[in-house]
Amino acid sequence: MKVEVITTGTELLLGEIINTNFTYLAQELNARGFDVLYQTTVGDNPERMEDVLKIAASRADIVITSGGLGPTRGDITKELVAKYCGVDLLMDLAVWSHIHTLLSKRNICIAENNDKQAMVPSGAIVLHNEVGTAPGLVLEHGKNMFVMLPGPPFELKYVCEHELFPFLEKRFAGNGIIKSHTLKLRGIGESNVAELLDDIITHQSNPTIALYARHGDILVRLTAKAATAEEADELIAGMQEKVETVIGSYVYGYDEDTLPEVLGKELLAQQKTIAFAESCTGGLVSSLMTDVPGSSEYLMGSVISYTNEVKKQVIHVNKTLLDKKGAVSEEVALEMARGVREVIGADLGVSVTGLAGPGGGTRRKPVGLVYIAVADEYGEACRKFNFAGARTQIKLRAAMAALGFALDRLKENCIEKKSEEISNDHEADR
Ligand code: ATP
Ligand code: MG
Repeated sequence: MKVEVITTGTELLLGEIINTNFTYLAQELNARGFDVLYQTTVGDNPERMEDVLKIAASRADIVITSGGLGPTRGDITKELVAKYCGVDLLMDLAVWSHIHTLLSKRNICIAENNDKQAMVPSGAIVLHNEVGTAPGLVLEHGKNMFVMLPGPPFELKYVCEHELFPFLEKRFAGNGIIKSHTLKLRGIGESNVAELLDDIITHQSNPTIALYARHGDILVRLTAKAATAEEADELIAGMQEKVETVIGSYVYGYDEDTLPEVLGKELLAQQKTIAFAESCTGGLVSSLMTDVPGSSEYLMGSVISYTNEVKKQVIHVNKTLLDKKGAVSEEVALEMARGVREVIGADLGVSVTGLAGPGGGTRRKPVGLVYIAVADEYGEACRKFNFAGARTQIKLRAAMAALGFALDRLKENCIEKKSEEISNDHEADR
């Protein structure tokens, strides 16, 4: 099935907003076996929008629009698609009553033009929008299917996940499906993963294997084409086993898992608490941790020990050590981890100290040099990193590395503890 996505809105053409709706739709549709062949962006202008609709209908089977379903006169998508298909707009009572209920729940006065959003092209299927007033719409016309989606990204995703994708999967069930499964890695760079998986990547066919680096994560995405979901799952499972034989120790999670979430779960499972001393990350590690709901169960608090004064006064880093070794050093990282653990009274103290740049680097201590240390009841350890990239990238990479290190430490100690328990059992046997 050939798809063209039309994103509408003058703000997109002015470069004021990033076209995240297209990125989302392209990823999700390709993953479901639809061929996204074209994408067009057009302003809120009726003539140009009509031209774009005509062109899209001539070269794609499914034409998906985003935006322009709002209550104002500038919102014209539905009207123009209905005009192109030669159908009238009719009031849909279920949509009307949903709009009225939603607006009164939000204490918003219902304006006359809200009724415009309850008008639906005759013969269209309504994709219910629980989180907004404009529903999505599907209108079939000749060889074309027009899908109209609301512009606000949150609403667009809601309508896609709950209504559109299940609908398309059913409607085009005979087309075979494409399924993807993503392995998420920590503690290894993209080029090292590529090297380790070289043989598998060279000989890939179905499933295919692709590597990405995104938001500080390394992703390995396996994509299988098959007649049924079960068949695709089987193909993916076979490939996953091969991949994990090589890089399994770096995998921390799958698909929607995030590193802060996985670390949080591990802390909860081991009933441990954590605290961070952050220098070059300036609170980013703690911010990532607190993105996870319920993180107060294990994150006790953090110190942004950005200056040497705070390092000394708040988390008791030794002055002589700071003067001798410098803030970006293994010794200071270890002191910071110990200090924050003690001051906050957490089971794990994790520190990050480094040079995020762009200035301040020397030959001995270049920009990107970061030390991360963990202190816990078993002792302490430090890792040295050399991250590449601009300031914010270095901060993010350092933050992710700190989370990864804490996770590794918890898992290692868990294994050690288990083996201790096993050997104790042997003692008892004797
Ligand atoms: P509304 O009822 O808010 O008017 P709508 O369906 O008419 O919704 P638009 O007016 O086109 O949609 O867009 C509403 C908002 O959604 C925009 O101001 C913008 O913030 C966001 N938005 C629209 N299109 C995109 C896009 N392609 N990518 C990211 N954000 C978008
Ligand atoms: Mg609008």
